[in-house]
Amino acid sequence: MYDFAIIGGGIAGLELGAMLSHDGHSAIVLEQSEHVGGRSFVHVRDGFTLDNGIHLVRFGRKSAVARVLRHIGRTIEFASPGNAYLVDQNDDLVLFPTGPAGFLKSRLFTFSERLKALKVMVRLKSGSYGGLDRYTVEDWMQSEGIEGGLKRYFRLVSASMLVCPITSVASARALIENVNAVLKTGISVEYPLHGWRHDIIDPLIRTIKQHGEIKTGTRVESVVLEDGKATGVRTKDGIVRARDVVIDVPSQEIGKILDVGAVKSDRLRTALGLVPTSGISVDYAVQGKISDIDGLIYFEDPISFGCVISNIAPDTAPAGKSLLTWFCPIHYEEMKQKEQVRNYQQRLEDRIERVFPALKESTIFKRVLHMSTVDGVELNINQLQGKRLDYAIDGIGNLYLVGDTTAAAGAGGDIAHESSIGCYEKITGSTA
Ligand SMILES: Cc1cc2nc3c(=O)[nH]c(=O)nc-3n(C[C@H](O)[C@H](O)[C@H](O)COP(=O)(O)OP(=O)(O)OC[C@H]3O[C@@H](n4cnc5c(N)ncnc54)[C@H](O)[C@@H]3O)c2cc1C
Repeated sequence: MYDFAIIGGGIAGLELGAMLSHDGHSAIVLEQSEHVGGRSFVHVRDGFTLDNGIHLVRFGRKSAVARVLRHIGRTIEFASPGNAYLVDQNDDLVLFPTGPAGFLKSRLFTFSERLKALKVMVRLKSGSYGGLDRYTVEDWMQSEGIEGGLKRYFRLVSASMLVCPITSVASARALIENVNAVLKTGISVEYPLHGWRHDIIDPLIRTIKQHGEIKTGTRVESVVLEDGKATGVRTKDGIVRARDVVIDVPSQEIGKILDVGAVKSDRLRTALGLVPTSGISVDYAVQGKISDIDGLIYFEDPISFGCVISNIAPDTAPAGKSLLTWFCPIHYEEMKQKEQVRNYQQRLEDRIERVFPALKESTIFKRVLHMSTVDGVELNINQLQGKRLDYAIDGIGNLYLVGDTTAAAGAGGDIAHESSIGCYEKITGSTA
């Protein structure tokens, strides 16, 4: 009998389990695959440490993940990327602003666009985005008269921040809230100095094991419900009893472990059909130093972004070698068209190899991943925070939810990290 049974060892389940364990509770994490981490899994190959696609931490030392680590008594050092750039169609590097000062310097904007950008940033910083819930990014840009370089800029921000390059789909409110958070924290993105596994995942695992355990290779078949309460989980080896049960499974998959028909919740039914974000990730492990750039780099065709992650966090590659990681967001529906996806991949690789010609000779290995789920939810106008599931399901006692499809704040991975704090506070009634 455990205090908590957590279904899924994704990053949100691990964070919640570690916070509860640090408080002295026993938690068992049940993970279906042979390793924990879920979509934040880290793979080590030939001395290179590869994230599951580019994994920067928004707001870095001011992020929710840093807060989780502080709660469990760990400190984490972050590496700050250098300047970000757009590589234009002539292969010239153009400064890509990550804060207000960048707008004054970047060649991406005309003089009047620069003034407009500063005016918009002041408004965004003040948080004046009420009434924009039904606006897409495209609607918002039109209403603000945003055009030219500034429009190209916000399209790329939508692609990287919301993982949605289609501005007629992405939510203006989500974009503005997240830009506002960058302006307020003064940090766009950072990266754990020694990588996700060393700095984040391993400390979480160690903390959970202080009072509980992690069982990999263990799929939960169903949540055990008795008298309207969750009392445990069923696996092929039998029932694991717990006082409370937490689900860290994307809400689209909840129907596989919960009798959704028995739960009278419209939100739950909506959550089963949430559209995730999707895309292609490409990593190149290479001999030698491939570039000096230590910030994010954007392309407009195909719209994508990446970095030489080993220039930001040297531990991710063996000495004298480099690791480059790139991501091309593609809409979930388009991702189903195999031929089209292959075409994106070809264009992406051609573009990367044109910008880094040395790759042809110096690549040790390349890894390509086609991912139909990147972030649990695409932040379109129908999937904003208020439309997603809370940390508990109405009508079922002792059953909680965590993860990047819940109604936590942020975008993408932030939602997962914010959710672990939100769920912890809901369960314990105390502040993380
Ligand atoms: C290419 C890419 C780039 C990304 N970039 C970033 C980034 O830059 N920054 C960032 O913070 N985030 C990023 N993310 C998003 C981030 O990885 C996710 O938001 C986060 O990992 C989600 O964690 P989770 O715990 O909510 O869900 P998941 O990782 O999906 O965890 C759910 C876990 O539950 C397990 N499971 C499912 N069903 C069962 C069952 N029946 N029984 C037992 N176990 C089960 C799964 O195997 C999985 O391990 C990126 C993701 C990808 C793929």
